[in-house]
Amino acid sequence: RKVLTGQQIVVTAGKLNIGGDNPPVMIAGPCAVESREQVMETALALKEVGVDILRGGVFKPRTSPYTFQGLGLKGLQYLKEAGERIGVPIVTELMDEKNLDAVVEYSDIVQIGSRNMYNYSLLKEIGGINKPVILKRGMSASIKEWVMAAEYIAAYGNKNIILCERGIRTFEVYTRNTLDLAAVPIMKCETGLPVIVDPSHGTGHRQLILPMSKAALACGANGLMIEVHIDPKKALSDGQQSITPEEYQKVYLEINKL
Ligand code: PEP
Ligand code: MN
Repeated sequence: RKVLTGQQIVVTAGKLNIGGDNPPVMIAGPCAVESREQVMETALALKEVGVDILRGGVFKPRTSPYTFQGLGLKGLQYLKEAGERIGVPIVTELMDEKNLDAVVEYSDIVQIGSRNMYNYSLLKEIGGINKPVILKRGMSASIKEWVMAAEYIAAYGNKNIILCERGIRTFEVYTRNTLDLAAVPIMKCETGLPVIVDPSHGTGHRQLILPMSKAALACGANGLMIEVHIDPKKALSDGQQSITPEEYQKVYLEINKL
């Protein structure tokens, strides 16, 4: 009676096909859109290297209410301009149902973040849109809970779901999260959906992006989501796990060798 039976689903976003035997999709961009210039400069640098989807948060789920919360809809406009300029689809996180219409109108793909994986009313709403969705794993979600969160979206009418492993909380605190790569083949088999990996939130350390990107692709990930900032030291969020466009190029070349 489940909608996601394990039968392979290929998700399309514009001209891109994600999942199945398609080449891994590269999603990159800043953690947060900080200004029109910052996101445009980042996008142009990514375009030079190669990027399939531009990411950027405009509603940021920050631990502290006193830190940068994102530019909101103004930021979404900047992200859209940058995506159009380099000719790739964009993805941004939707945190609140009240912004659903605006995000669906502007963004090519809608991201549901880790903290909202359990937000069943939001998942039902997302089930009713006809845009692809990236569903990130809850930071303490079991495989079964993550499967059922995807099932909520699918059951309410939207099977264009890309799952994203972004690490889970364990006793280990050296890394920001413990990247659970076994989840990649498990979730592909359980749901049939494409599964991508976010080594940025999954590790919290920029020097771990390259090795874990390679590992993700080796275990069958259908793509990567990587945080890239033109000047990580000055980033308003997640600078320690952000890489420069030059470092992104290194990752890009290394994984294309695989
Ligand atoms: C993000 O991708 O911007 C993000 C906030 O990630 P997560 O929901 O996985 O913490
Ligand atoms: Mn981030």
